Amino acid sequence: MMKEHGPAFKKAVIELDKCPLCRGRAVTMGTFYELPCDRCNASGWVAAATGEALPLDELVTQLSLKLQAAHRQIEQLKNPRATGPGAQYQEGNRLGAGGSNYTGD
Ligand SMILES: [Zn+2]
Repeated sequence: MMKEHGPAFKKAVIELDKCPLCRGRAVTMGTFYELPCDRCNASGWVAAATGEALPLDELVTQLSLKLQAAHRQIEQLKNPRATGPGAQYQEGNRLGAGGSNYTGD
């Protein structure tokens, strides 16, 4: 069984957990309307290890990584055939998978 390495993540993925204050909703209920949750920088997520909000610049990247992973999962659910060892690391660079992938090189 071959396990492809693919391009290594430059950014370390930080394990995220739902913010305990807003329960992942990114907002808290004010008296009359919802307020941005200041516990988690209004992201709904905190670092699982520390339970603290990430700095905004780090938070953006981590949310992006999380979103990309979620999208990959959705794509795999939509296209079960494309799922294979290392397929999730290819990020649209699968040559010849569908015959129509354009790498833009
Ligand atoms: Zn929160």
